[in-house]
Amino acid sequence: MPPNKKPETDEAMREYLQRGQGYRERALKLFPWVCAKCNREFSGKKLRELTVHHKDHNHDNNPPDGSNWELLCLYCHENEHARDGVADAYAEHTPEEPRPPTSTFKPFANLKDLLKDKNKEDPG
Ligand SMILES: [Zn+2]
Ligand SMILES: [Zn+2]
Repeated sequence: MPPNKKPETDEAMREYLQRGQGYRERALKLFPWVCAKCNREFSGKKLRELTVHHKDHNHDNNPPDGSNWELLCLYCHENEHARDGVADAYAEHTPEEPRPPTSTFKPFANLKDLLKDKNKEDPG
């Protein structure tokens, strides 16, 4: 039987995780359990969906006053990160662009006026 000794990497990992959970717990103590973006409230099991966002994106920057933290739900957190960098990359490929319904959206509504304006042939 080999000795059941834990490797050092595992130890380091545990420490890392503990540190990681440390700032989340502190953030949860500092802030109300509400997503800073969509204002949804979280409690109990749902609290898992509330995550700590680092405003400067530096996970090692954890000031005790929480000035670098923002509580965001999973969705808003993803959006927040998508905004800087990734968003531009896949915006072009997003098929669903928010646009008004075709029934009321008339792209050529002004065309007549434009044409009329261009060749001003006043018969009168
Ligand atoms: Zn949210
Ligand atoms: Zn984040």
